[in-house]
Amino acid sequence: MTRNGGNAMKRIYLDHAATTPLDERVLKAMRPFFWQKFGNASSVHSFGTEAREAIEKSRRLVAKAIGARPEEIYFTSGGTESDNIAVQEIAYTNRERGKHIVTSAIEHHAVGETCEFLEKDGFTVSRIGVDKHGFVDMGGLEKAVGKKTTLVSVMHANNEIGTIEPIAEIGKICAEKGAYFHTDAVQSVGKEKIDVRKMNIDLLSSSAHKFYGPKGAGFLFVKEGTEIHPLMHGGGHERGLRSGTENVPGIVGTAAALQIAEKEMEKEAARERALAKKLANGALLIENSWINGPPIGGKRLSNNVNIGIDFVEGESMVLMLSDKGIAASTGSACSSKSLEPSHVLRAIGLPHVKCHGSLRFTLGRGTVAKDIDYVLSALPGIVGKLRAISPLHKGIDIAEFEEEIGETHGHGHGE
Ligand code: PLP
Repeated sequence: MTRNGGNAMKRIYLDHAATTPLDERVLKAMRPFFWQKFGNASSVHSFGTEAREAIEKSRRLVAKAIGARPEEIYFTSGGTESDNIAVQEIAYTNRERGKHIVTSAIEHHAVGETCEFLEKDGFTVSRIGVDKHGFVDMGGLEKAVGKKTTLVSVMHANNEIGTIEPIAEIGKICAEKGAYFHTDAVQSVGKEKIDVRKMNIDLLSSSAHKFYGPKGAGFLFVKEGTEIHPLMHGGGHERGLRSGTENVPGIVGTAAALQIAEKEMEKEAARERALAKKLANGALLIENSWINGPPIGGKRLSNNVNIGIDFVEGESMVLMLSDKGIAASTGSACSSKSLEPSHVLRAIGLPHVKCHGSLRFTLGRGTVAKDIDYVLSALPGIVGKLRAISPLHKGIDIAEFEEEIGETHGHGHGE
């Protein structure tokens, strides 16, 4: 019963790629730094040194988790800021050497739009295409990296379809060709093993709220010796790269969350993968449905299930699932308010009309088998209702429809 006498609705959260709840153990680690230990880390008195020590301990923990040195970790406000510092500042700092950037067609907007901004400022950007599962065309990438290329930016794991890119191979190409390699690892840190040295990564972006840490906190790894100027100027914090009074609770929370995620990674990934499989198998019983991205269990984030369903609108499914207490998404949290089809689904070759019927479930630590049973009991009915009122369902041949609206290319999705 709720306070006003109604029945509390079942609420199932399957949108962990958008954000995760703060882990209680992380909250416990952060708490003292909101009041008793509230000092400014730049102050020389004991309040300041207490905060400074907490930051430096956090830096050591974060560095250890990704195989970096502590002095290579810069705390930021999260993924968007880290991506902006990396992409803009490598481009501007090294522009005498060349004004060419290589990236993929499926980057998050934090990288994609930063590249567009740079294009308007005279830089040239090559966007490498992907195959039907979202894997970057490695031959195309290798060819594109030339003498004038200062930066290659390719994400580690895609936020919409879960594809895990071969970043160690990309890093090797960049090292051989003398271009800096940045990877947006916002979706993979805490879920996939990362070793920046073994993978030849020069810059890596991460965000704590994706691994049960606080929002508005994260870090950027920058390999020692990298030529990079700051994006923001000020008091010279974070060794001059990221000025601004440090968010001590956020930094402590980032390190605590990452430590927990690292420790529980393998076991949790296996558990979520099994649940993802159950969800995918059940959802695929719906006629005319398919999996977007690599097969479940393949080189794909263990918690990601992106399902394509013909003749229905993803947005409508998300709203109807929400009415039943289920939180899912159509894809990127950042673009879910826009009606434009996802650039990721377009890049894997899905025709325009099929992009609109995508549904992304991202599982997390709190997800249990009966949540999946509940989703599978609700979804077919929702799809049935929407198809009953869909002009695309029955009577209209989808190929003919696509031709009518100017779609010509086919695709190979069916698994
Ligand atoms: N990069 C990727 C791949 C993401 O999924 C996100 C968030 O959805 C971001 C960057 C932005 O991170 P933040 O929310 O910390 O700004």
